[in-house]
Amino acid sequence: MKNLSVAQILRDLDSGQYSSRELTQYYIDRIEANNSKLNAYVTCDFSHALAKADIQDELRNKGEASALSGLPIAHKDIFCTEGLRTTAGSKMLGEFVPPYTATVVSNFDEHGAILLGKTNMDEFAMGSSNENSFYGATLNPWDTSRIPGGSSGGSAAAVAADLCAAATGTDTGGSIRQPAAMCGITGVKPTYGRASRWGMIAYASSLDQAGPMTRSAEDAAILLEAMCGHDAKDSTSIPQDPPKLVESLNNPIKGLRIGICKEYLSHELNPSIAENVLASVEILKSQGAIISEVSLPNVQHAIPAYYIIAPAEASANLSRFDGVRFGYRCDEPKDLNDLYTRSRSEGFGAEVKNRIMIGSFALSTGYYDAYYGKAQQIRRLIKNDFMTAFNQVDLIVGPISPSPAFKIGEKTSNPTDMYLQDIFTVTANLVGLPAASIPSGFVDGLPVGLQLIGNHFDEATLLKAAHSFQQATDFHKQFAEVS
Ligand code: GLN
Repeated sequence: MKNLSVAQILRDLDSGQYSSRELTQYYIDRIEANNSKLNAYVTCDFSHALAKADIQDELRNKGEASALSGLPIAHKDIFCTEGLRTTAGSKMLGEFVPPYTATVVSNFDEHGAILLGKTNMDEFAMGSSNENSFYGATLNPWDTSRIPGGSSGGSAAAVAADLCAAATGTDTGGSIRQPAAMCGITGVKPTYGRASRWGMIAYASSLDQAGPMTRSAEDAAILLEAMCGHDAKDSTSIPQDPPKLVESLNNPIKGLRIGICKEYLSHELNPSIAENVLASVEILKSQGAIISEVSLPNVQHAIPAYYIIAPAEASANLSRFDGVRFGYRCDEPKDLNDLYTRSRSEGFGAEVKNRIMIGSFALSTGYYDAYYGKAQQIRRLIKNDFMTAFNQVDLIVGPISPSPAFKIGEKTSNPTDMYLQDIFTVTANLVGLPAASIPSGFVDGLPVGLQLIGNHFDEATLLKAAHSFQQATDFHKQFAEVS
């Protein structure tokens, strides 16, 4: 059963090759044997998973299967799951059992997917290496002395090590794409508003988007069709039906206009990664894509803008964790102020506190215009750059991160270096564009990803190009061996 794609699993379940119970048990055995080596899952609920698998097997036997009936998946531990602990990687939510389920999760439930467990992540999705989790770092299945990327590193490691068929992640500045690249899997951040944010613990609300982390673009298309769609409970949810992606996957990419962003390649990029991007573009060109150069002059300001806007929104979102309404409460508070102060000081980790302080400062009277206002102006300039580029091309390609997976602890003492990990990914979030990472080869024996950025609502073109690339390459079919 090893390393099966979602598409293959759905075919096999249909033809009776194996049952969902057998498949679920296979992943449970894999998790039990390997999770202690990787720390990919924070919480699992195997008896519930097996019970659900039996229900889906029965439905399938009666001819009442849904699109994802019996498919075992994992959710990032940022999605609320009723009755199942949801920590967001934080001590603050260490005992939090949500009274409701996130829309993305219930969409998967309604389509018949089986939840194996919740995956590890940087605390409140703040990080690029998964080292900020209160529950310990997740390790990269390709080399366990290295980080898997972050913040959806647990999901990426779980998919790469075959501890689930597919997983969800969230991407505020790159957290689906960067760990996908570093673990050799496919990750897609849809257009802002495609997937509901309801029940997804908020980091930076104008940037957060949920998406799939899978073995292939085809699998991502299947999952996106199930997880997206309008949700009246999220005021930023787009009032549109889920995009139809699977039916156009095999359409040829002949004539597709692809732009190489010249600023991305001239940046301080590992030369092997720059070569990898250019080699990948050659493959798309050989399939009929028309390649040109595009310029996005303001992307150089993306990191400073992002690291004002994201912390500003985070500082507001995280104010709800006050020791009264949610989560951790300190012992024996002297008075209300002591309760607030100590609950937050003890419940949040260092990086989260760092972001809350930066964000509160950037939003304070007197500094608001100089920092937050300015960052929003830069955001608009970057958006204008992309809109101009999308008059000339249908897709933009570039790298995902400046280097392959780095060693655990290598960047923890240098936050600027860590923040620069996101230099190629935050732009898609600032502009709300759909973007994907697809496995594009190996540098120093470690997987790297190619980034594809599409125009708003055009996930179909994005996935068609990704799928086409995967027809000509087998990088997505190479797997990490943990045991
Ligand atoms: N690394 C970025 C940050 O720490 C992005 C995280 C994310 O996308 N959730 O903000």
